[in-house]
Amino acid sequence: MQKKIVIIGGGISGLATAYSLEERAEREGKSVSITLLEKKNQIGGNILTERVGDFLIEGGPDCFLSEKPWAIQLCERLGMRESLLRTNDEFRKTYILWNGHLYELPEGVILMIPTEIFPLLKSNLISLSGKIRMGMELFIPKKESSDDESLSQFVRRRLGQEALDKIAAPLVAGVHAEDPDTMSVKSRFPRFVQMEEEYGSLIKGMIAKRREMRMAGSKGNKPKYTMFMTLKDGLSEMPATIVQNLKSTEILTNKEVLSVDKVSSNVILSEAKNLNHVVSEAKLMKHKYKVSLKNGEVLDADTVVFASPSYETARLLTGIDDSISDLLNKIPYTSTATVSLAFKKDSIFHPMNGFGFLVPSQEKRRITGATWVSRKFSYRSPDDSVLIRCFIGGSHNEKLIFLNDKDMIEMVKRELRDIMGITSEPLLTRIYRWERAMPQYTIGHEGRLSILDKKLSEYPGIFLTGSSYRGSGISECIKDGQLTAESVLKYLNL
Ligand SMILES: Cc1cc2nc3c(=O)[nH]c(=O)nc-3n(C[C@H](O)[C@H](O)[C@H](O)COP(=O)(O)OP(=O)(O)OC[C@H]3O[C@@H](n4cnc5c(N)ncnc54)[C@H](O)[C@@H]3O)c2cc1C
Repeated sequence: MQKKIVIIGGGISGLATAYSLEERAEREGKSVSITLLEKKNQIGGNILTERVGDFLIEGGPDCFLSEKPWAIQLCERLGMRESLLRTNDEFRKTYILWNGHLYELPEGVILMIPTEIFPLLKSNLISLSGKIRMGMELFIPKKESSDDESLSQFVRRRLGQEALDKIAAPLVAGVHAEDPDTMSVKSRFPRFVQMEEEYGSLIKGMIAKRREMRMAGSKGNKPKYTMFMTLKDGLSEMPATIVQNLKSTEILTNKEVLSVDKVSSNVILSEAKNLNHVVSEAKLMKHKYKVSLKNGEVLDADTVVFASPSYETARLLTGIDDSISDLLNKIPYTSTATVSLAFKKDSIFHPMNGFGFLVPSQEKRRITGATWVSRKFSYRSPDDSVLIRCFIGGSHNEKLIFLNDKDMIEMVKRELRDIMGITSEPLLTRIYRWERAMPQYTIGHEGRLSILDKKLSEYPGIFLTGSSYRGSGISECIKDGQLTAESVLKYLNL
């Protein structure tokens, strides 16, 4: 009999799992029955692209990191190579707001680590003592214990307070909406922990890595991909193309799952007896599950993949094991909003010579950063206009996302006036609120996941994937979905 796989959640994680299940099963000449259930009326989860006239607006994510290759590899396998869009690297600069002024982040600072000496020396953002302290990183011995620590502790220890305040903290607030004082460095930046271990210094590790990349790049002309990549018609093209390419997955939208329950071996045995089937002991060892939907339907499943946010998965699993739900509920979430505004180009006097800016919390502003979208990517706005996207909320200012639309737009306009001198009225505005959409990997996250894995092993056939666990960038979600697909097929002996 064909094994039934149910996937809960139609975000990129659920879709990547379904696609990988099909790819792998096809390679082995096997067939699988997959049902993907999504509670909203559209798939894609946090990935949401909207066209407004000639503007292309990303409500959620706007790009993925090419260094984590799984998104690009998936796009290539889906035949989307032509859709991949590089950033406009002539504008590859980021600014930091400090004392009300925008300062350029020194060139060569990669994810908070300086890799080039001269741009750092010339920087007006970092004070002389801050530069000396960052340089001393080369001589600071590596940490002896392997205990987890917060990003603040880690950066303060290796690069100093100024690097934390002016670079690391605004970066993680902007990208992960996270508080550096509670963020686990082991779970969010495992690479830095490894670098410290391997090279004894982040600067040495980063320089070695850059050299490696240059050597690889020097074989061709220009590197194929820029650090950030997107899709010409917006990121929603990715979930849409996955759906088009799925052959044996039934995708059901507007199907909210209310609970998942285990069917005991006795029930399977008596059902089999009624049907005059002989059930082997091995089969009885495998649990079966019942997936109950809000509309009253109940689906049988040999395997259930939860690709829903961890707090939602916690709720769905309460009937199976409360201790698993308790662990899942320990993963906190924060809320953010993005506000996109378009202006007539000739009404803006700021040069916008970069990808955008980040705002450290010390500045006490209401936005955490902004992307100068029409600089960063082509095909986002007509030539005579500019598109700017601002970020609101996150761990420090979560309540701001609940402002009503009018107040939120007024607030963002005031921020852009103060920071960039923009006084003209926008041509259009769009608000996207993301309530409890950003998982926070707090100190000890990795340890809690190990306990979770152990507990889950008591319930064979249940798998968890998605942004709550092992990386929340799109590319990491895709990788995790692929690994989950591999485990599912192994479990089902396919
Ligand atoms: C504002 C914002 C900006 C971001 N920017 C970037 C970026 O630039 N680059 C990047 O790489 N990442 C970025 N991210 C992160 C990235 O978008 C997400 O981590 C990723 O899209 C999460 O995918 P997912 O499938 O795990 O979860 P989700 O996208 O949350 O999908 C989960 C799905 O499960 C469904 N669901 C939940 N409960 C049920 C239920 N009971 N029954 C059925 N369905 C259910 C939900 O409706 C949802 O569709 C950003 C995130 C946000 C919010």
